[in-house]
Amino acid sequence: MDRYVVIGNPVAHSKSPQIHRRFAAQTGESLSYDTLEAPLDGFAASVAAFVAAGGRGANVTVPFKEDAFRLATQRSARAESAGAVNTLRVEDDGSLYGDNTDGAGLVRDIEHNLATAIRGRRVLLLGAGGAARGVILPLLDAGAAELCIANRTAEKAVQLATLADDARVQGGGYAELAGAFDLIINATSAGLSDQTLPLSATVFAPGALAYDMVYGRSTPFMQQAQAAGARVADGLGMLVEQAAEAFVVWRGVRPDTAPVLAALRQS
Ligand code: NDP
Repeated sequence: MDRYVVIGNPVAHSKSPQIHRRFAAQTGESLSYDTLEAPLDGFAASVAAFVAAGGRGANVTVPFKEDAFRLATQRSARAESAGAVNTLRVEDDGSLYGDNTDGAGLVRDIEHNLATAIRGRRVLLLGAGGAARGVILPLLDAGAAELCIANRTAEKAVQLATLADDARVQGGGYAELAGAFDLIINATSAGLSDQTLPLSATVFAPGALAYDMVYGRSTPFMQQAQAAGARVADGLGMLVEQAAEAFVVWRGVRPDTAPVLAALRQS
């Protein structure tokens, strides 16, 4: 049986084992999937031991996505653009291929599960941390007409916009936001501590979709968006879709995410 893990610290709370075990059962792929907690200063050693024991691939979560980026000897374009790796595949010669499936997961959740077009739309991305950086290229590739990045520390948003090197992208602070957006994506961690973002109701265009990457709770951002008449989604679909994308990287088979997402929502 091929072995896969999710590596993080802490990692016991991760939903990835549930998701990947369901994918494996559904597709008939013979694999095991468990959690692996690496010491904060011992990511590379934990991966080396896992590979030596025959491990075939890993998802990587907080706080190791940048360590995984440095450890991978080959990387996909979307990993390069994200500056972070959330999926490692052990190649036949034992080397590590690094990919980042977070952005593809977000785009698929929005376009497929939420039936919302990105092409031609004005998109507002809130936050300039690792999660925000990872979704910029996939949103541009999906055809966003404009991508504004707003962050509490405005310089970080400006830096991300410069890095993107695309005329459609602008970065700045919340105070500089102007006009209405069709798609507003919250990639900040503010919702985890119930903090409200300084957003005017006018950023939500009529019929806008407001997407919070945080899942499992109703955040102040979701409440602001609802009050402004926007449709609201949490990040559970992104979590399941990024996992499906990782499953494709490892196994070459795309699982059906709908029943897995429905089961997670129920639990
Ligand atoms: P980082 O720590 O790298 O970045 C956090 C970001 O949130 C920064 O831009 C920070 O701004 C901003 N922020 C934090 N608190 C506040 C606040 N009170 N007001 C305004 N801005 C704030 O985190 P990540 O980018 O790695 O993750 C962000 C979120 O995305 C997390 O909540 C995570 O759970 C979620 N996520 C969900 C995924 C999914 O599959 N659904 C996948 C990946 C992430 P500043 O720069 O000014 O500090």
